[in-house]
Amino acid sequence: MTQKINKGSAVTVIGLGAMGITLAQLLLAAGYKVTVWNRSPDKAAALVAEGAVLAPDAASAIAASPVTVICVYNHTATLAILDTPAVRNVISGRTLLQLTTISPAEARFTAAWAKDNGAAYMNGSIQAAPSQMGRPDTPILVSGEEATYTLLTPVLQVFGGGISYLGAAIGAAPTMDLATLSYIYGSVIGFLHGVRISESEGLGVDQYAAIVAGITPTFGDFLQHEGNMIHTSNFQVTESPMRISIEATARLEATAREAGINAAFPAFASALFKKAAAAGYENEEVAALIKVMRDPA
Ligand code: NAP
Repeated sequence: MTQKINKGSAVTVIGLGAMGITLAQLLLAAGYKVTVWNRSPDKAAALVAEGAVLAPDAASAIAASPVTVICVYNHTATLAILDTPAVRNVISGRTLLQLTTISPAEARFTAAWAKDNGAAYMNGSIQAAPSQMGRPDTPILVSGEEATYTLLTPVLQVFGGGISYLGAAIGAAPTMDLATLSYIYGSVIGFLHGVRISESEGLGVDQYAAIVAGITPTFGDFLQHEGNMIHTSNFQVTESPMRISIEATARLEATAREAGINAAFPAFASALFKKAAAAGYENEEVAALIKVMRDPA
């Protein structure tokens, strides 16, 4: 008979950092019977007051529920908790939902470990901060066997309504997580260089931040368009010709040097676009920069 994990079912949460505590609270609020375990047990006090059961060790926590959600610092912490004789003794027949941020190779390793020990395994990558969890649009990427996804769907829906199932290949969710992290950190560095530009001209950083928030949704649409152009290998100019970006990044670098502010980011950006110019891509869509970036050198 197919197992169902719904309201009232037992779910274990391992790892009570900022994110794990939030996951356990959401499960309690949704009516699940929650068992928790954390390396530092004091972090469970508030959850126990809300109705969670604190297990004495990780193996007992896993034995208490058909499904265990693990959300700890990294892959090393995951293995330190799971790869013990006590856990290997109890995990067979259970389902593990990994919400620790790990790499694609680490996800494949953990999936193989779970399979060797008779457990089903799904990998999730949370794309939100703890205070943003549990909302109708909270984005979480997941990958793993479809039957495991079906089993875990009610639990995932408690954590966020914006679930993207990326298929059976276990590395898919962490791969997309790394890719979105690249986008985010590129944006953060660009944003902070913009702060230095604003400061160098005596303009308010609050005003700059509000402008960035305003342009972000349309910029998202623009990036989706550029991504689709790369996907179809069509670099004919449709929105933004490369020559504009060659000029813009050269201007960013020159202005930073004139203002005496840190020029590391614009120098990096303009060097890439100069390569596009040297390769003759000026009159192609800006997305053609990917042809420069496909060269590992
Ligand atoms: P955190 O507050 O730093 O908590 C880390 C957790 O890992 C704690 O429960 C800690 O236990 C445990 N831990 C660390 N090393 C361990 C070890 N060697 N053995 C056993 N337990 C260990 O982190 P968090 O914010 O909850 O994040 C947890 C995961 O969620 C991370 O992979 C993170 O990338 C991901 N995530 C977080 C956010 C966010 O905004 N917070 C957003 C998306 C994804 P102790 O309490 O004993 O130290």
